[in-house]
Amino acid sequence: MRTLTDISMPICPGMPVYKNKEEKQPVFETTSDFSTASAHETRLHIDAHTGTHIDAPLHMLEGGATIESIVLSQLVRSCRVVDLTGVTDAIRAADVEELGPKAGEFLLFKTRNSSDDFFNPEFVYVSADAAQRLADAGIAGVGIDALGVERAQPGHETHKRLMNAGAIIIEGLRLADVEPGVYTLVAAPLALVGVDAAPARVFLMTE
Ligand SMILES: [Zn+2]
Repeated sequence: MRTLTDISMPICPGMPVYKNKEEKQPVFETTSDFSTASAHETRLHIDAHTGTHIDAPLHMLEGGATIESIVLSQLVRSCRVVDLTGVTDAIRAADVEELGPKAGEFLLFKTRNSSDDFFNPEFVYVSADAAQRLADAGIAGVGIDALGVERAQPGHETHKRLMNAGAIIIEGLRLADVEPGVYTLVAAPLALVGVDAAPARVFLMTE
């Protein structure tokens, strides 16, 4: 029997946001309700990098491609969830080496971040050297269970090395309930046009 596991963050006011910045909190504005109208409507005020989301090259590369350049055929595909829960600070090149990344693979990193239900400023991130190793291996994409693939390293080398290699970056995954292994990844970003990221519903199916 096929199993489905939702690995997205619920989006609502008070959710974990990057660096706990107040301006990154979603705001749900009720623009119409039954006290004055015959329908209930809500306007969403959310950052493109809210919750589980996909970064487009423009996020870190001046003049880079925007989110609609990433097409669904790149996001509905096989992936491998790898166990890096033993990593305490950063995923290093040696950790990547041990995984044996293959060209064209999409890797999802399950780390101790998945057990945090708040924004932890000390989240496990991907070091620039690890990103280089992944880029050299020719991976198609990486997903991580933190709201950032790096912790604002100077120059954003992790993002840039992955993006320059054409690797897709998914941030904000929830992998606590996922066993390491191979799955079908379904990542569906909102069909936004011309921006640097999009929130996405992401789930895994057993193959
Ligand atoms: Zn992002």
